[in-house]
Amino acid sequence: RTSLEGLPETLLMGPGPSMVHPSTLRAMAAPSLGHLDPRFLAIMDETVGMLRRVFATTNPITLPLSGTGTAGMEAALANAIEPEDRVIVVVNGYFGDRMAEMARRLGGEVDVVEVPWGKAVDPEQVEEVARRGRAPRVLAMVHAETSTGVLQPIEPLAALARQYDALLVVDAVTSLGGVPVEVDRAGVDLCYSGSQKCLSAPPGLAPFTASPRAMRRLEARKRDVFSWYLDLRLVAAYWGQQRVYHHTAPVHMVYALHRALERVLEEGLEARWQRHRRVARALWAGLEALGLQLAVTDPALRIASLTTVRVPEGVDDAGVRRTLLEEFGIEIGGGLGPWKGQVWRIGTMGESAALRHVSRLVAALGELLRRQGWRNDVTGALAAVTEAARRE
Ligand code: PLP
Repeated sequence: RTSLEGLPETLLMGPGPSMVHPSTLRAMAAPSLGHLDPRFLAIMDETVGMLRRVFATTNPITLPLSGTGTAGMEAALANAIEPEDRVIVVVNGYFGDRMAEMARRLGGEVDVVEVPWGKAVDPEQVEEVARRGRAPRVLAMVHAETSTGVLQPIEPLAALARQYDALLVVDAVTSLGGVPVEVDRAGVDLCYSGSQKCLSAPPGLAPFTASPRAMRRLEARKRDVFSWYLDLRLVAAYWGQQRVYHHTAPVHMVYALHRALERVLEEGLEARWQRHRRVARALWAGLEALGLQLAVTDPALRIASLTTVRVPEGVDDAGVRRTLLEEFGIEIGGGLGPWKGQVWRIGTMGESAALRHVSRLVAALGELLRRQGWRNDVTGALAAVTEAARRE
């Protein structure tokens, strides 16, 4: 059996989970409380208050769902879509595809606006699809597509959603807490994230928020939400002041999120976004100085928390990742779907977004590429990391 005591420290620089701060891990070891204990209820309220600040929203319905990011996705879509509703989903990667598949299973009449992997959608393209046929009731998009490393601007699609009186669903799993996500200002109706990415809590909770507009739509539904567990009105009755038992909250996970959110707010959102940008630019400079090619060619479309870089011709993708992990104790991710074997995915999320981590990764990657016959200048690449960080 694996000895948990003996697990080595691993530097998590993959697409999530990210590193968890020791104080967040310690928070999980706080004494157990019942999920209706008044002291736990106070912790829940504080968590909700902090989540509102992180989402930049005043939405009364803001809470962490018990489940991972995918539960957030399913909750958003299940509460927004009624069977036969027309739903438009922007798909430019693996997670957009997952949204479209879920929307179909929920009985939505789904129109996919598909764009090549590595690109963002042009809002005109979405508008063209919206104009055809019945007015869409829901428009769904992934803000930070973790499979490709592309950031999709929210505002133009929010304006379009308003124009058609559709609810805008935004996946902010890889962006919340690392890249600006301002729910109220942008006009997002349903937004969800994952605890394990830029918030740097362990995986297991899905921060979630729903606008009053989304809640009004929910109240006016003709049919029940297909999922009892993810029915927002039921979940909100527990997280709100009524405290109606719905399911047993994962108490220690909430402790962890509470501590992780404290850390986010202690740093400040602006400072945190800036740190993510600075660290990402340093990573990009280091990778390019090693002679690697970033998969997203337009820097304006890159995500500060997730970088995709092309695996060079003739280099053993899985072998490099395996040795990085075994010999250097660093985890990065491989490609998904059509980009499997084509790219590496490097996360600089939350606690993982630090220059010292980037330098360690660039040095290790440089060494491994050299072993595979790839000529590079590791010292030069490390200098490029430092230089780029200074410029930002
Ligand atoms: N959406 C995006 C953009 C993601 O990156 C992920 C996970 O990587 C998910 C949804 C699903 O989240 P989870 O794996 O926590 O269920």
